[in-house]
Amino acid sequence: KKRNPNENEFHQAVKEVFDSLVPVLAKNPKYIRHGILERMAEPERLISFQVPWIDDHGTIQVNRGFRVQFNSAIGPYKGGIRFHPSVNASIIKFLGFEQMFKNSLTGLPIGGGKGGSDFDPKGKSDQEIMRFTQSFMSELSKYIGPDVDVPAGDIGVGAREIGYMFGQYKKIRGHFEAGVLTGKGLTYGGSLGRTEATGYGTVYFVEEMLQDIGLSFADRTVVVSGSGNVSIYAIEKAQQLGAKVVACSDSSGYVFDEQGIDLATVKRLKEVEGKRISEYVTEHPHAQYYPGCSNIWSIPCDIALPCATQNEIDEIAANLLVSNGVLAVGEGANMPSTLQAIDVFHENKVLFGPAKAVNAGGVAVSALEMAQNSMRLSWSFEEVDTKLQEIMKNIYRSSVEAAREFNAPGNLVVGANIAGFKKVADAMISQGVI
Ligand code: NDP
Repeated sequence: KKRNPNENEFHQAVKEVFDSLVPVLAKNPKYIRHGILERMAEPERLISFQVPWIDDHGTIQVNRGFRVQFNSAIGPYKGGIRFHPSVNASIIKFLGFEQMFKNSLTGLPIGGGKGGSDFDPKGKSDQEIMRFTQSFMSELSKYIGPDVDVPAGDIGVGAREIGYMFGQYKKIRGHFEAGVLTGKGLTYGGSLGRTEATGYGTVYFVEEMLQDIGLSFADRTVVVSGSGNVSIYAIEKAQQLGAKVVACSDSSGYVFDEQGIDLATVKRLKEVEGKRISEYVTEHPHAQYYPGCSNIWSIPCDIALPCATQNEIDEIAANLLVSNGVLAVGEGANMPSTLQAIDVFHENKVLFGPAKAVNAGGVAVSALEMAQNSMRLSWSFEEVDTKLQEIMKNIYRSSVEAAREFNAPGNLVVGANIAGFKKVADAMISQGVI
């Protein structure tokens, strides 16, 4: 904390991981001898840069851009770009730190990175988004490349922004290097199944947790927070598996639809028209809209999928979920539960799937996009989806086994942290102190 003052989110992420590594270090003192924890907690590189751009009124605006290149022991840095006014060094570092373990868990050769800007895309015109994104890439392009660092999308960065970034990178470099970014459009190197991957993967993982105790999504009541990329495809897959999703949200409020959320409406409002989730009730007057987000967790449900943002479930929300009989919580977003909320879930024997395992499907399919780009081939949706299901099963199995091996059976926080850690740590030792 002394070394990184005021970086609360980063401290929270490091504490969660390092607390669970205690038994690993006791059994393997080589990790202490090689200074692995100290080296893992310090990014290999943190880049902060100016992003000047001109708005539609001709006024010059200045935002701050970041890229953290956390760890490259097992592959090129890989992680999304977030555009949101809350972005700062602490948030980018927590996300990059988590990404290192998540990417290792996928079993694919990708290191950990993350980036973003405090730019707020809300209310900006398409031209403003393009000018900002091009300025952002003008600087970022100096630090990335298909074998160096491969960014993707995250909050506020979808196919449109990736397209503008790719175009700018291509113009600066004068090369068509498809593998420099993932989440690209299908006409220029994107992978089928990438849009759906994080949401679908989240549900595949939770289905594994449920099946282990003889349950499934079928006929279960589900609450999903958010209505962005992860949420929409988590809702879609949960519904395909027979669940009833009764609520979703955006940063202004949430809708409750007892009959089950009509996903076609949500997709049109959010993916096509860029409207607020409050508009849902004008088309479905039997549903209710409530301003504010946190009360979404007071809705009784069997399965909770927080898919919006960090720290959206605190101790109070966790207790509400437990008192309403929640069976399973799967973190589609990054670090959506506070450390106290996770304790509440564990104390009450709720099946709890931590973000770095549950939402790893997105980056896994990004790595599959990189593989297709290298081969100059495109796989079918079914091929990608089958690989995604396999990867999510493997992540679940390796997390369960690591938890069991280190005397924390059923604790997937411990299991995922340990399983992700060992591969990175062993690669760092093999490569020496560099
Ligand atoms: P989107 O921008 O597509 O959607 C984010 C959703 O969450 C929106 O509904 C947004 O509402 C809401 N939201 C954002 N910030 C807040 C906030 N501070 N309070 C309440 N609601 C908020 O992002 P994604 O779906 O891509 O990402 C969601 C989460 O999933 C993030 O934690 C991200 O890091 C994580 N993730 C995403 C992956 C991906 O492949 N996209 C991969 C792995 C993790 P509004 O529209 O009002 O802003």
